[in-house]
Amino acid sequence: MRDELMREALCWQMESKVNADFAYKAKTAFELDCYCPNKNCLVKVHPKKRINTYFYAPERHVAGCPNEARSTEPSLYPGESHPRPVEETPKPVPNFLGPGPAIRKKTVEPTREELLQLAVTVSTLPAYYPGTLEEVIDAWIQLTPGERALQPLTIGNQHLTYETAFTFLGTASDEISLLNPRERIIFGASTVREADYSFLIESRKRFLHDAKKLPLLLVSNKKKVLPDYIPTLVGQLATLFWHGAIPGLTDKKNAFRFDLDASSPYAGVALRSGELAPWAGAGAANAPV
Ligand SMILES: [Zn+2]
Repeated sequence: MRDELMREALCWQMESKVNADFAYKAKTAFELDCYCPNKNCLVKVHPKKRINTYFYAPERHVAGCPNEARSTEPSLYPGESHPRPVEETPKPVPNFLGPGPAIRKKTVEPTREELLQLAVTVSTLPAYYPGTLEEVIDAWIQLTPGERALQPLTIGNQHLTYETAFTFLGTASDEISLLNPRERIIFGASTVREADYSFLIESRKRFLHDAKKLPLLLVSNKKKVLPDYIPTLVGQLATLFWHGAIPGLTDKKNAFRFDLDASSPYAGVALRSGELAPWAGAGAANAPV
């Protein structure tokens, strides 16, 4: 029995464990077939949201299943009729940057043997919880340096942690080609300036080119400001995060630059107010003393 909400389940279409928030969000497009991951149980469960998101089992877990909730006394709709403690649990930390693998539509329900096999295969893997670049950065900020070293974060095929997935410009090489923005999230102090038709974001870090040190420059057109909160950071000390795009030398050879004309929730740039460093996240700085 458990006192907490059931937050993870097996997912047939994803062939992995999924988090309740992910399954609930996916529901608007496509209902995933989810099951209790306990090998003796494997009952079908559905994501549900009251204050928190969780999985509930209309047909009940087998007796003794560790995922059986205390409040599932005789009732066909335990989630409906037995309110649970309504404390809000913290948002789970995304463990995957990106939309995740495509959901494979399966027309046939799995057999018990197939489910058992899946339960065994994924038993030691974390529940799959994808996040956007902004969500991953928010999670990074909230984590302490020690937690970052322990929290997994997969980018592409790279199984990293919140520590290794982030590259700090403050201690990076002056050789820009050594950065790996396709497999890492790069971050460091930046300024945001406003020009006539655009916002200019310039890194404090300088990179070497022909014996000169050049900043990284990002230009966001005012007609389509990306990200849309850039204007609120003008004139402030800010931290720039970027992932995916490779900056190139400008024609005038006075900066490395990439344009922010394309928008993807999983790549591009994000900014946060203040100067953030690997050894102290905003979470630590904002903690009550
Ligand atoms: Zn169960």
